[in-house]
Amino acid sequence: MIDIAIIGAGPAGLSAAINGVIRNKKVKVFGNPPSTSYIYKAERVDNYIGMLGINGKDMMSEFVNHAKEMNVEIQTGKVIEVFPMGEYYMLNVANEFIEAKTVIFANGFSKGTVLEGENEFLGKGVSYCATCDGPLYRNRQVAVIGDSQYAEEDTNYLAEVCEKVYYIPLYKEIADLSAAIEVVQGKPKRILGEQLVRRLELDTRELEVSGVFIIKENIPTTKLLKGLELENKAIKVNRFMETNMKGIYAAGDCTGRPYQVGKAIGEGNVAALQAVSYLHKLK
Ligand SMILES: Cc1cc2nc3c(=O)[nH]c(=O)nc-3n(C[C@H](O)[C@H](O)[C@H](O)COP(=O)(O)OP(=O)(O)OC[C@H]3O[C@@H](n4cnc5c(N)ncnc54)[C@H](O)[C@@H]3O)c2cc1C
Repeated sequence: MIDIAIIGAGPAGLSAAINGVIRNKKVKVFGNPPSTSYIYKAERVDNYIGMLGINGKDMMSEFVNHAKEMNVEIQTGKVIEVFPMGEYYMLNVANEFIEAKTVIFANGFSKGTVLEGENEFLGKGVSYCATCDGPLYRNRQVAVIGDSQYAEEDTNYLAEVCEKVYYIPLYKEIADLSAAIEVVQGKPKRILGEQLVRRLELDTRELEVSGVFIIKENIPTTKLLKGLELENKAIKVNRFMETNMKGIYAAGDCTGRPYQVGKAIGEGNVAALQAVSYLHKLK
């Protein structure tokens, strides 16, 4: 069992990981690729000490290299859900189940707009994970809503399994999509059905589907762990980065303003040290 599982390999998550490893804990980071970190998009960063004028992409490479040199284990993959199991937690990482004594949320700013019908049909035709649920839609028609090129690999996989795949990109340039997939332009409005999903309504047309895959870089925090308390859409923490759930900590943009690298790094440090003291009390 892992001592500290970290969700997100941005500045906050990597800072937490380094500190957990220094304190001899079994740490593992589960994160989308570094290019999905917000800092990757910064042209130039002037307010982080010691790296004046650095470009965000280079800054991220420095952080990743530092973590790797300290033997931090980083597994590329999206965390779909975290389940409380009493004294520990179980993470679903793209259908691989991982046990951890503590979890640090470092999943960045939540862009969590929820479609009408999304909550109602979650698990009844709505899915966030192609690997987990794709086989359930063998020979059926599905729609995929993707917010970045990152969603295309999952969509190509679904095209191998499903009878028909519609792809609704919420971004401009499609990079690598199988020819069998029908790209549909439009803004998703609502998901409709009775017991199970039947249709996806866009502002341009309606699609008859039995599954709607919503493949976004981040999953709304409220969906990742039920019962986690929020405040102004951010994870509510105290100054030790503790949340309302024991053994669960949060750091970085996911805890709210200010959205800054310095804050993310500091909070990652505090969250890891607090997780370490919690682990010592468990023994
Ligand atoms: C254009 C731009 C310019 C900026 N300029 C500056 C600046 O000059 N100075 C400054 O201090 N700050 C700047 N920022 C803000 C800075 O980028 C953020 O504050 C910082 O990246 C926060 O780090 P984080 O680790 O909390 O989140 P992020 O860096 O966003 O990292 C979160 C990571 O978690 C991943 N993730 C999310 N959900 C999951 C999941 N379910 N499973 C697995 N992985 C997941 C995300 O894909 C992402 O990789 C800028 C931001 C932008 C967008």
